[in-house]
Amino acid sequence: MARILAMSWAMRRFPNLCMRKGWGTRCWRDFRCRPDWYTKCVMSNQARQGSVKDPPMIQLGDMTIRMLDGGHLSLDGGAMFGIIPKPLWSRQVEPDASNRIALAMTCFLVESAGQRILVETGGGPRGKYDEKEHGFFQFADHWIVDSLTAIGVEPESIDIVILTHMHFDHAGGGTRPDGKGGFVPTFPRAQYVVQWGEWDDALHNHVVMTGTYRKENLAPLENADVLSLVTGEAEIAPGVSVRLMPGHTRFQQGVVFSGGNESLILPADLMPTSAHLGLRYTMAYHLLPFANMENKKRLLHECEDRGMGLLLGQDPQHVRFRLGNDERGRVALERVD
Ligand SMILES: [Zn+2]
Repeated sequence: MARILAMSWAMRRFPNLCMRKGWGTRCWRDFRCRPDWYTKCVMSNQARQGSVKDPPMIQLGDMTIRMLDGGHLSLDGGAMFGIIPKPLWSRQVEPDASNRIALAMTCFLVESAGQRILVETGGGPRGKYDEKEHGFFQFADHWIVDSLTAIGVEPESIDIVILTHMHFDHAGGGTRPDGKGGFVPTFPRAQYVVQWGEWDDALHNHVVMTGTYRKENLAPLENADVLSLVTGEAEIAPGVSVRLMPGHTRFQQGVVFSGGNESLILPADLMPTSAHLGLRYTMAYHLLPFANMENKKRLLHECEDRGMGLLLGQDPQHVRFRLGNDERGRVALERVD
């Protein structure tokens, strides 16, 4: 009994402790960690769970949303928090020896009104990146197709793919090698929904981080004529709509899921992780940092006013949150299972 109580206290006090590798090992920061260790390592069944048969599911009325692990990567901690000094951001996220922090690439499989919609595709298969990129980004072995296969969903059965923006860690899984030196859409029957302005900026590489708009993620979609470009707010399917949320890019879109008197929003890189709740916690990768801050403020007000929940797709530990208050009455994020 005393041992159970001690373990439960330790799990609450040190949520990142790895149960598999032993006390004192903060496993989700160990980039060599095997994917099948993640469930125990992060102590959350929502982010970085690997390719599993029973991923966490949300029910909104008749709509189901399954949260799928689209792989993970690491990015420079300083770049992820922009003007925030390291002594502040490292209180929330501890970097590795190379100052990188681990990030999830969660994708969302929505089934509504007889349609299958995939929101985000992660970074794609390992073969899309060279040795140097693997060395820095520390990509996972698995990608979105592995997670779909684990739940018995064929890529050919996806009707619609929604991409919040075309950076490689969101759009990379949208195309795959064709085995002949080229690339083809991973989801051949799907229409790919992208904001027209985002697509135009991607083609012209209008970006802070050089090389994030990669031609193997763009040209195959255009060549296969699977693009469905939208402008501003649009309903994509019953209960699934997109809206502009500029800041990270000029035309990034957020995705809103509504059903059964409840709404959830995926703000993508406007607020990629729970450590980015603070208005000034913006990434150096943002094209428009001030716009990002203003739009994040608007988003948080809307979440408060409407009771709307948040899906934070790159948080390495958890995905679904709602706004709450901490013990001092300040705005805080609460995990929702
Ligand atoms: Zn991005």
